[in-house]
Amino acid sequence: MALNNFKEIKACRVCENTNLTDVLSLGKLYVSDFSDQQNSENGIKAPLDLVLCNSETNGCGLLQLKHTVSNESMYRNYWYRSGINKTMRDELSSISSKAKSMIDLKSGDYVIDIGANDGTLLRSYSLDGLNTVASIKSRRIRYSRNNKDYC
Ligand SMILES: [Zn+2]
Repeated sequence: MALNNFKEIKACRVCENTNLTDVLSLGKLYVSDFSDQQNSENGIKAPLDLVLCNSETNGCGLLQLKHTVSNESMYRNYWYRSGINKTMRDELSSISSKAKSMIDLKSGDYVIDIGANDGTLLRSYSLDGLNTVASIKSRRIRYSRNNKDYC
């Protein structure tokens, strides 16, 4: 197990103000990694602390986590797939419907889904010629336009 799976931020994630005020510390907690029962003791812990970029000291007011856990630690064993749950498919479809009602999407436009999971949201756009781009961190999940490429 690597020792440095997280790092403390030195500046606000939005405005880069370095004057961050400690707000709350819940100590070190296990990072959710969807590990199976056999490997549950191999999980890593990271501090769960909140800091405020205080607007009274020229900050932007963002309340944020004081530490960043590595993507590898967070998503190495992530197994959940949006497409296997009807409630989630319906919810994601409502997001694309709302987006389509706000923007006149045309063939050739791009839609980007950051944290796209299995691509369920992108598939719900169902517009010929639309370019879909998925950002996925998990090694266990691959995006597929036609829903046939799960691993
Ligand atoms: Zn800020």
